[in-house]
Amino acid sequence: MSTILNTPITCPACENVFVAPIADSVGANRAPHLLDAVLAGTFHRFSCTRCHRAVQVEKEILFTDFARGHWIGVFPPEDEPRFQECGELVTSTFHEALVEKAPAFVATWAPRFTVRVVFGVPELREKLICLHNELDDRAIEILKLDLLADRPELVERGVVALRVDGVIAEDGAIAFVSRPFPDASIAAPPVAFLVPRDVYDAVLAALPALADAHAEMFAGPYVNVLRYLPRGAVPDRGSPRASVERRIWQPSRA
Ligand SMILES: [Zn+2]
Repeated sequence: MSTILNTPITCPACENVFVAPIADSVGANRAPHLLDAVLAGTFHRFSCTRCHRAVQVEKEILFTDFARGHWIGVFPPEDEPRFQECGELVTSTFHEALVEKAPAFVATWAPRFTVRVVFGVPELREKLICLHNELDDRAIEILKLDLLADRPELVERGVVALRVDGVIAEDGAIAFVSRPFPDASIAAPPVAFLVPRDVYDAVLAALPALADAHAEMFAGPYVNVLRYLPRGAVPDRGSPRASVERRIWQPSRA
């Protein structure tokens, strides 16, 4: 299901309030234009009607693509420190919908699904670029660690985190861009570069040997090296299932 509601949006730059179409969830097969918008980087991105700045709306969304087998819970970037709780919520929602309360023929689909949790629409876009190009996102995350370790010039330029931006059709090279930390405490300068496909292939081949060292990231829905950031106390934002606007996490009870 993808229900679109015209919703008041407050521009963070000028506090102008304008109305924009906001999706509560995205079903990629019934609403392929929403999938296209995510991949194009235009999903939930609007121009303020007064100051014309770009406003990226972030909210909780359940993204599903039954044809390709993708089940991705999207949370606002500020929820990233709560990745454990959010990941468990996405996983249990998936199990309720496709295993426990699903008709027998639907339950047979479950093993082929990739279940993930992401924080922010740009991270959803990155995850879909990987999935659509048959890139193993675990290998991509390990590759990010290698790139930052092997390229001191990136760290010298202030780059602290990377994001996949695309795949070159001709040779399979992977385009990376710098990205801010989830809480935007460290703003990364814009850096973009290509990584040859054989560099990724080498990481992919080495993946089995890394399974123990990265057991939680490899087994759970939050596949992102940012999970290794040092953190203070995880902010308490309440039980996600408690509020009405979060009923997307109760698909079998709706
Ligand atoms: Zn504005």
